[in-house]
Amino acid sequence: MLKELTIVSGKGGTGKTTVTAAFASLVPEKIMTDCDVDAADLHLILQPEILREEKFIGGRMPQMDKSLCTDCGLCQQECRFAAIDYSEERGYHINPFACDNCGLCAFVCPEGAITMVDAVNGAWYISRTPYGKMVHAKLGIGEDNSGKLVTLVRQQAKKLAEEENLSLIINDGPPGIGCPVTAAITGASMVLVVTEPTIAGIHDLERVCELCRHFQLPVLVCINKYSINLVNTQKIRQYCQEREIPVVGEIPFEPQVNQALVARKSVVDFPCGQVSRVVRQLVEEVLARLGK
Ligand code: SF4
Ligand code: SF4
Repeated sequence: MLKELTIVSGKGGTGKTTVTAAFASLVPEKIMTDCDVDAADLHLILQPEILREEKFIGGRMPQMDKSLCTDCGLCQQECRFAAIDYSEERGYHINPFACDNCGLCAFVCPEGAITMVDAVNGAWYISRTPYGKMVHAKLGIGEDNSGKLVTLVRQQAKKLAEEENLSLIINDGPPGIGCPVTAAITGASMVLVVTEPTIAGIHDLERVCELCRHFQLPVLVCINKYSINLVNTQKIRQYCQEREIPVVGEIPFEPQVNQALVARKSVVDFPCGQVSRVVRQLVEEVLARLGK
């Protein structure tokens, strides 16, 4: 049966990608995804070689055929977003940065000069990495369809897993608790939250755990750099204990981890002292809980 693990953090910079890269390195027979479509960084370690690239059609946008336009100005009058400009040289024309893609101009134009066409909002990829295949994507600058693109990445990963007869997908989730995170965790078999013992880290952990509880998803927690603040680490343990959320790993602070990142290596493939051992145990524990 296909299982899907999504690794999230509540915010960036908690070491989520470090943990995800360790899963990539240690777990055989799986598909990886990078669901951080706004600012993907897993590729820095996994160094994918692109095998397939596809456009991401995130919606529809208006396109004006100037040969049909009579410059009546009706579209400009009706547009609520002031997205139709006029100049002597160009006549009436659409400003794509102000446009909300509502389609009203296409509806009101008496000449049929405006039609709604597919909008390319980014691209998605299937790549080969030294750790198996990966599905990832890139959203166009200023585009706001990241939830939809995350869903597409997960769908493609499922398709690929079925084609290759693999039974595990590991998603590197986006930061935050917004729409892309919801898209990355909905329907997952399990969510692993990577947090750190800071006030902001605890706050973000609580928010992301609430989100998972709302969707009734099994949650595990990993405390990264637990040794930098033992008081806050204890607060996280207590929070998890009260909600019956297992803490499956406590990773100590280790300066060598940055060296591993600079060398584009996972902490399990680079001498990182105790961290390498603890992260190996973490991966084993999560796989056991996933039934793998
Ligand atoms: S409503 Fe149609 S014909 Fe009139 S200015 Fe707009 S595009 Fe041109
Ligand atoms: S699609 Fe809507 S927002 Fe965009 S130009 Fe037409 S009327 Fe304005």
